[in-house]
Amino acid sequence: MRATPPAELDVLVVGAGFSGLYSLHRLRTLGRTVHVIEGDDDLGGVWYRNRYPGARCDIESVDYCYSFDDTIVQEWTWTERYPAQPEILRYINFVADRLDLRSGITFDTRVTALHWDDEAALWRVTTDQGDRLVARHVVMASGQLSTPQLPAIEGIADFAGTLAHTGDWPREGVELTGRRVGVIGTGSSGVQAVPQLAKQAGHLTVFQRTAHYAIPARNRELDPAYVADLKARFQEYRDIARHHPGGTHRHIGTESALDVDPAALEETFHGLWERGGPDILAAYRDFRTDEKAAEKAGDFVKQRIREIVEDPATAEKLCPRGYPFGSKRLVLEIDYYTTFNRDNVELVDVADDPITRVEGNAVVLASGARHELDVLVTATGFDALTGPLFAIDVRGVGGRTLPEAWADGPRTFLGIGTHGFPNLYVVAGAGSPSVLSNMLISIEQHVEWITDFIEYQYKNGITRAEVDTEAQDRWTQEVYDVAEPTLFMKGNSWYVGANVPGKPRVFMLYLGGVGHYRDVCDQVAADDYAGFTLN
Ligand code: FAD
Repeated sequence: MRATPPAELDVLVVGAGFSGLYSLHRLRTLGRTVHVIEGDDDLGGVWYRNRYPGARCDIESVDYCYSFDDTIVQEWTWTERYPAQPEILRYINFVADRLDLRSGITFDTRVTALHWDDEAALWRVTTDQGDRLVARHVVMASGQLSTPQLPAIEGIADFAGTLAHTGDWPREGVELTGRRVGVIGTGSSGVQAVPQLAKQAGHLTVFQRTAHYAIPARNRELDPAYVADLKARFQEYRDIARHHPGGTHRHIGTESALDVDPAALEETFHGLWERGGPDILAAYRDFRTDEKAAEKAGDFVKQRIREIVEDPATAEKLCPRGYPFGSKRLVLEIDYYTTFNRDNVELVDVADDPITRVEGNAVVLASGARHELDVLVTATGFDALTGPLFAIDVRGVGGRTLPEAWADGPRTFLGIGTHGFPNLYVVAGAGSPSVLSNMLISIEQHVEWITDFIEYQYKNGITRAEVDTEAQDRWTQEVYDVAEPTLFMKGNSWYVGANVPGKPRVFMLYLGGVGHYRDVCDQVAADDYAGFTLN
């Protein structure tokens, strides 16, 4: 039965993924009255929803985990280098059971409105189940990639077969055996799903608008001795990631790829290709900033594609074009390219012959070609970062809505707070390293900073904390300034909102590095939260 949320709270947490669960635990430990409201019927966030075949993390399991509780670190043992969705979901449930977190969560309930009452200095909260409550503080742990984005294709919602989005995969699964399956979208989720779908489908049609650079994951079972060694020195190991630009242990090259002898460059690339994982991105210092340097890595990947894929025309279509290597998310693949050597798999390039509509059970292209399907899988991503926030009617000081305040793109201080919306904190969202980091490092850092800040306010009799416009303007400019010289500005990616019609085209993430970002946040706290007006 649904647990009714308490009518009055110190802190409301929205969402029960990694961010919300740790927020709940930490605020409880600090003695706050805190409760989580979760829209789904169980916990886990993206790892509850993204159950599509092949769903997997592309940060190594030993890094993609909590570090705040040493008992949990010691009791949990990862089995694979890159954990698959079921293992991550088991891990999240293990943590929730260990810390008795379910008792603090109301499931099956969406927060629909958050209205700031300036006189009382609290948030008035409404849910889709008719709950009304008040909370002095609200922690938005509502996710970055929790709002699936359907492609804007006429008739798609009326597809006559089974329609499934990878980001909202049915719990009961999708019947694929022997069926005609189509996939729209060849980013991270599509690349993970295609090899698995191909194994089950009678025929698989992959509709590709943009080919992505994909690097082998070389996933493997973890050596128990390696895991035991890391556990024995986990906090020391983790501390390196906390201060690393990406929140990992990736080696970051200091040389320019343009200064290296071509044979040596080729050897390095081959070594990284064989080792697998995304390390190639950081192998040279200029892959993120210099198109000519990035082209060297891009050319190397294209060569590998041409070697792996037997049909030359298909191989050419799979070679990315029109944007530099590293300007979109680098995808990790397991058997993606080899899948196109199967007889039951067909690649349809919809960059040249676009999809015009879905009619009945057919995907129809501009040329008039019709692809009849039983199952249509959309791996078309999310309305990232702002989507989950804008889905709620958030009204701050004077009734101003968040979409009004962010009409030209997110404006934040540290990504955590925004002027006009006091006592509202966003975990790992726009304006912070977020999805361009190991999220578990970023989530822990944010949750600890935000909950310390809330505790500071209670200790000092503060009831209202609002970001100053000056601090917000400075930080927003810093986010743009750091992104400006990078190749990310040249990729038409979801990092700049390009996948959502009408979304402002601004780079939404802080690229200054996880370690540096942590130092900036720590300094703000050490300066008694300079940048916020506290009353
Ligand atoms: P989420 O897991 O998104 O949880 C947010 C929760 O809030 C959801 O359960 C949602 O239902 C709930 N919610 C939202 N709005 C409301 C509302 N109005 N009312 C009530 N509840 C609400 N990150 C990495 O670092 N490495 C990876 O390799 C990686 N791989 C990924 C692969 C996929 C397929 C996806 C989708 C994401 C991946 N991520 C990865 C990013 C991932 O989102 C984060 O790592 C992390 O799981 C986010 O946790 P979270 O708790 O912040 O958000």
